[in-house]
Amino acid sequence: MKSPFAIAIHGGAGTILREQMSASLQQEITQTLEAAVRAGHQHLEQGGDSLDAVVAAVTLLEDSPLFNAGKGSVLTHQEMVEMDAAVMDGQQRRVGAIAGVKHIKNPVVLARDVLLHSEHVFLMGEGAEAFAFAHGHTYTEQDYFFTERRYEQLLAMKASDQTALSESVYPDDKKYGTVGAVALDQQGNLAAATSTGGISNKRYGRVGDSPIIGAGTLAENGNVAISATGVGEYFIRYQVAGEVAARMRYLQQDLVTACETVIQGELKQVGGEGGLIAIDQQGHIHFAMNSSGMYRAAIDCDGVCSVKIYADE
Ligand code: ASP
Repeated sequence: MKSPFAIAIHGGAGTILREQMSASLQQEITQTLEAAVRAGHQHLEQGGDSLDAVVAAVTLLEDSPLFNAGKGSVLTHQEMVEMDAAVMDGQQRRVGAIAGVKHIKNPVVLARDVLLHSEHVFLMGEGAEAFAFAHGHTYTEQDYFFTERRYEQLLAMKASDQTALSESVYPDDKKYGTVGAVALDQQGNLAAATSTGGISNKRYGRVGDSPIIGAGTLAENGNVAISATGVGEYFIRYQVAGEVAARMRYLQQDLVTACETVIQGELKQVGGEGGLIAIDQQGHIHFAMNSSGMYRAAIDCDGVCSVKIYADE
């Protein structure tokens, strides 16, 4: 019998409303999600490892202007992009994380390079970029990341002095558009990856939950791999990914119970809007969210592909 393998991805959770979504945008989003999940799945099918599978899926999402990572990153108060990313391999608990990079086309690939080639696990800012250029990444101008959509979003937020947008022409701008992936490979190894531009109008070198192991990203063999999306400040304070894993490890809670308890519990009551994707050692996948939607896709152990947007799907 073939060993089970499966993959799930997300393109961010938040307020995503049917009545504001155009058919053409919805189609673009679902097509990109499907392409990304298939890119990751192909690695698994060919016997590749889960770490490369999650990086392949997230790279494709980073290259799309539709999501808040890589090319489509939101803008800071200074009208720059500053991106964060992390990868974790559940087999040996190896980690690569970066924060506040401005000139790296694919932050998730850099995070994997930190995992593979650095004695450290978490690099930030200029140091992370120096490491990147020493390891074959090319300098990418900020212009590459600039999109009209994110500029309009920033201007609207500056006008209302917010860090979360209330009015916008884009149906999903009240959404945290981080991207992520989790996978189980045929060797039984779990991995997770998360990549983000953070939140629009952020200041002072703000870093969210995405690159922080145990907050936005986690993978541990024998238990679970998780990638989260939402208001990073809350996901850090409530150690969201670590809390799900601890519930499964110590309380023997199943995947669904552990994820739902955390996402629908105190986190939600205090304003921690968002969600997560998770996969357990058997390849069961769960999507949990306390928001009206989360862009997401999966190919399960039976090879069935699904792509969804709204919470009630
Ligand atoms: N969690 C991310 C952050 O706070 C935002 C997101 O999920 O889009 O940086």
